[in-house]
Amino acid sequence: MFKYDPPSELLKDRVILITGAGDGIGKACALSCAAHGATVVLVGRTLAKLEAVYDEIEAAGHPQPAICPLNLETASEKDYDDLAGQLFDTFGRLDGLVHNAAQLGPRTHLDSVKSEAWMQLMQVNVNAPFMLTRAMMPLLRAAPDASVIFVSSSVGRKGRAYWGPYAVSKFAIEGMMQVLADEQDGTTQVRVNSLNPGATRTAMRKKAYPAEPPETNPEPHEIMPAFLYLLGPDSRTINGQALDAQ
Ligand code: NAP
Repeated sequence: MFKYDPPSELLKDRVILITGAGDGIGKACALSCAAHGATVVLVGRTLAKLEAVYDEIEAAGHPQPAICPLNLETASEKDYDDLAGQLFDTFGRLDGLVHNAAQLGPRTHLDSVKSEAWMQLMQVNVNAPFMLTRAMMPLLRAAPDASVIFVSSSVGRKGRAYWGPYAVSKFAIEGMMQVLADEQDGTTQVRVNSLNPGATRTAMRKKAYPAEPPETNPEPHEIMPAFLYLLGPDSRTINGQALDAQ
């Protein structure tokens, strides 16, 4: 497990947007960031799940979050620009952006993947993070010390049979991370890195490995130290790195 002992007020006064914040790793990230003082912007497609996370944060007495329902499969350029406009009016900047939402898609030989399934997965896993990053860049540049995390996977660093468009999409976000990181290097205060959570007890893991006993893997809250490290000031000099949470 990534070793980092975050101070309780690590993310005080930071505004952090997390996609897929209603479930799994994204939910744990939202709860953990809020518990360390951040105002979290909860982005996801299922309003009821986002509201449940909102309620949990509020009940714990952490900074009041914001809810932004957005389906990354159908969101338009205008939706991303509108979101950026709302965040600019409310906060004036963005200190953290966590591209966490993703779909697993078909796990089969690449040559039997239907074009429609391929396009759908690329829309959510690749095109949406691109459009969201582009819309958020002015807000990230307005923050004194902003951090972008692309949540990756081991199959986005070494290809593996039958992992289909999911693996290809994770290679694409690793590439996006490297290009963006190199562009920011020495020119802005924004750092960009990727983080592989490793096997984690979520709905996606269960879908990928239905026969695996869930207790084999850590729960999402257990892998949060790496996320907190990358979102807080201690990682200020880390840019363009592909890190592992476990
Ligand atoms: P998960 O439990 O399936 O959660 C995925 C989240 O993404 C959910 O909140 C889901 O929303 C959201 N999402 C999916 N499609 C969306 C869309 N079209 N628009 C908006 N939100 C959408 O998965 P997870 O295991 O937490 O995965 C989180 C990240 O970690 C992913 O990038 C995944 O590739 C990566 N990862 C996970 C593991 C693992 O073992 N769990 C390992 C390596 C990498 P709904 O809840 O509304 O469906």
